[in-house]
Amino acid sequence: MEVMRSAARFRAACDAARTNASTVALVPTMGALHEGHGSLLRRAREEAGLVAMSVFVNPLQFGQGEDFASYPRNLEGDVATAQEAGCDLVFAPPEEEMYPEGPLSVTVDPGELGDRMEGRSRPGHFRGVLTVVLKLLNLTGRCRAYFGEKDAQQLELVRRMTRDFDVPAGVVACATVRDLDGLALSSRNSRLSPEQRSAALSLVNALRRAARLVEEGERRASVLRAEMAKRIGAEPLARLDYVAVVNDRTWEEAEVLTAPSRALVAARFGPVRLIDNMLLRWPGT
Ligand code: AMP
Repeated sequence: MEVMRSAARFRAACDAARTNASTVALVPTMGALHEGHGSLLRRAREEAGLVAMSVFVNPLQFGQGEDFASYPRNLEGDVATAQEAGCDLVFAPPEEEMYPEGPLSVTVDPGELGDRMEGRSRPGHFRGVLTVVLKLLNLTGRCRAYFGEKDAQQLELVRRMTRDFDVPAGVVACATVRDLDGLALSSRNSRLSPEQRSAALSLVNALRRAARLVEEGERRASVLRAEMAKRIGAEPLARLDYVAVVNDRTWEEAEVLTAPSRALVAARFGPVRLIDNMLLRWPGT
């Protein structure tokens, strides 16, 4: 497996693979790999000839006062994990390689969905995400690009961007990987104290409660939101940020569910902000 820091060399490696009739897969990450990333890499390994993973903690998607400086970084460990998962190439550019001219003057506008939920709590976040993802996809060229449902709003915005900008990348969605107790895996989990980690289970418990209510016939979004907020609010170490229910296809926030929907939650546990989401559906949908 090769580790590259140069964008030009990365682009050349992807071009060369396609010349040899290989499909190229890109798995974009911020490193500090866990089994969630591992599942994306293994899926890519099954579906592509060249599996490339990028590791870049993108400053553009972190706001003032967010955890850019304290975000976990472990390139050596990531390289070993990636190799084990069958990755062929790790692209780990330094910041100067991605932003050689300093701050960009042209960035991607995520549109109205980019201002809701995560976008409302983290202004500018999705502009930063989409801008770096577009750069990575442009360097990679025609490819399949793997994203986790764990970051469902990000996944939807990437889908919209590739469609709206005719980016030659097929977006592949991968299911959320959870710990045995249900906590969604996240690089940020490593910063939780044992007490905070157990409090963080309130996120998945709230989502599971909403999913069960919907299976049992509840269709009122206000009831689902209230139930989720109550579960998370009952946890003294949790500081709730938002709960939301959206149509899973349109991402509109209807008051009555008429089609498969998605519940989304965000909360802080000490210094760590976590998000999670779950599909809400019922028999026949
Ligand atoms: P990150 O390094 O957190 O930016 O994540 C890189 C990719 O891995 C994104 O597409 C995430 O949605 C995905 N990912 C992160 N955590 C998980 C998880 N627990 N299960 C599945 N995919 C995940």
